[in-house]
Amino acid sequence: MEIIERERRIPVAGEFDVCVCGGGVAGVSAALAAARTGVKTLLIEKSFMLGGLATAGLVTIYLPLCDGEGRQVSFGIAEELLRLSVKYGHEPRSEKRPLDGAGWLDGGTPEQRREHRFMVQFNAAVFAILCERILREAGVDILFGTSVCAADMRNEKIRAVITENKSGRQAFAARSFVDATGDADLCKLSGASTVEFQRGNVLAYWYYEHLDEQYRLRMLGFADHIDRPPAPEARGQKRYLGLDGRELSDMTQEAHEKILEDFLSRGGVTARHALATIAATPQIRMTRRLDGLYTLQKEEKFTAFDDSIGMIGNWRERGPVYEIPFRSLISGEIKNLAACGRCFSVGETMWDISRVIPPCAVTGQAAGTAAAMTDDLPALDSGILQKQLEKDGVKPRLSDL
Ligand SMILES: Cc1cc2nc3c(=O)[nH]c(=O)nc-3n(C[C@H](O)[C@H](O)[C@H](O)COP(=O)(O)OP(=O)(O)OC[C@H]3O[C@@H](n4cnc5c(N)ncnc54)[C@H](O)[C@@H]3O)c2cc1C
Repeated sequence: MEIIERERRIPVAGEFDVCVCGGGVAGVSAALAAARTGVKTLLIEKSFMLGGLATAGLVTIYLPLCDGEGRQVSFGIAEELLRLSVKYGHEPRSEKRPLDGAGWLDGGTPEQRREHRFMVQFNAAVFAILCERILREAGVDILFGTSVCAADMRNEKIRAVITENKSGRQAFAARSFVDATGDADLCKLSGASTVEFQRGNVLAYWYYEHLDEQYRLRMLGFADHIDRPPAPEARGQKRYLGLDGRELSDMTQEAHEKILEDFLSRGGVTARHALATIAATPQIRMTRRLDGLYTLQKEEKFTAFDDSIGMIGNWRERGPVYEIPFRSLISGEIKNLAACGRCFSVGETMWDISRVIPPCAVTGQAAGTAAAMTDDLPALDSGILQKQLEKDGVKPRLSDL
C-alpha cells in the first residue's frame, strides 16, 4: 500500500548564513569555525546532546593528532577539542597506559613524543557539555531534538532544510549548508552524488561498566581492515549498512543483548558491579558519503594538494600523513553544500583512516569556514580559505611542518 502525503505550507522558522546539520565532532567543529568568523550560524542535531558517536556513542578515545614519529600533523579545532575533552581530567585506558597523550599535553621531550601518540581518553558527558558551552560562547544557535528530513532546492543550491521536531515540520533557510550527519543525509536529500559502504559494518557494542571501584570502557566489536580479507572471527557475521530504520533498530537490540551477556559474565548487579552506561546512538562506522569533486585515496599519503585544508595521520600505522584537498568536501552538483566528518569524499580504504575523530574535526573546521565565506563553494579561491584557516591555527600543508 502507498499513501500520498498532502501538500502543506511549512513555516520558515529561521534564516541563517550557515546551517550545520548534525552535531557530532565534525558538526561541532564546523559550527564553531563558521560562527567564529562572525556569521549567523545554526546547528541542527537530532538527539539531545553534542558529540555524536564520540559522546552518545561512547567512543571516548580521541585518536592521534600526530604521525606516530613525534610530529603533530592535525592542528586548529582538532587540537582545541582534544584539549577541551580532558580539561577537567581524563579517563585512564588501563593501569599500564594511564594517559596516552604523555609528552604532548604539557610539553615533554621529543623522545616521549615519538614513543606516545598524541591521543587521549575522555569522559563523554563532560565533553558533550563543554562542546555546548564553547558553541554558545561563539554565538551558535543550537537546535536539539530536530531531524533534517528534506531539502528545498533552487538553482543547484539548497534554499532551506525541512525538519521535524516537537513543533512539527519547519524549514530553516541559509546561505550555505554543512552536512555533518555522518551518513551524508543532506547530500542524499539535496541530490548530491553519494556512495554507500557496500561491505557493511560488523556489530559493535562498546559500553561502560563499574567493577571493583573501576569505571571502565568495554570495547567490543572490532573495526576490520578494509584492505584485508575479514578476520576469522568476522567471517559469516552479519553486517549492517546503517541506512535502514528497521535494520538500525534490530542492530541496536542485538547490541543490547550482547552487552547484558558480557556484563553478566562477571556477575550480577551489586554494590561493586554495575552496568554504568550504554550508547544512545547506533555504533556504526561507515554508511554513506559524498561523492565529491575529488576522492582521496589511501595511496595518496605525503601528496601535496594546491587546495589542502589540513592534515591527518593514520591511526592504525605510524608514519603516513595525508593532506586533505578542499575538493573532497564539496559536491559537483550542489554549490552551497560542504560535507565533513565520516561522510566526506574518500576511497573505501581511506575511509577507515578518515572516519575517526581528528579527521572529523579537521574537515569540520574547513567546511564551516568555507561555508561562512561563500554560497558558491566550487568557485571559492582555496588560497583565501587556506589563509583564514592558518589565521585560525591550522597548518594546511606538509610544507608547513
Ligand atoms: C564502534 C566504534 C568505535 C570507534 N572507535 C573510535 C576510536 O577509538 N577513536 C576515534 O577517534 N574514532 C572512533 N570511531 C569513529 C568516530 O567515533 C566517528 O566516526 C566520529 O566520531 C564521527 O564523527 P561525525 O561528527 O562525522 O559523525 P557522528 O558522530 O555520527 O555525528 C553525526 C551527528 O549528526 C546527527 N544526525 C544524523 N543524522 C541527522 C539528521 N538527519 N538530522 C539531524 N541530525 C542528524 C547525529 O545524531 C549525530 O549527533 C569509532 C566508531 C565506532 C562506531
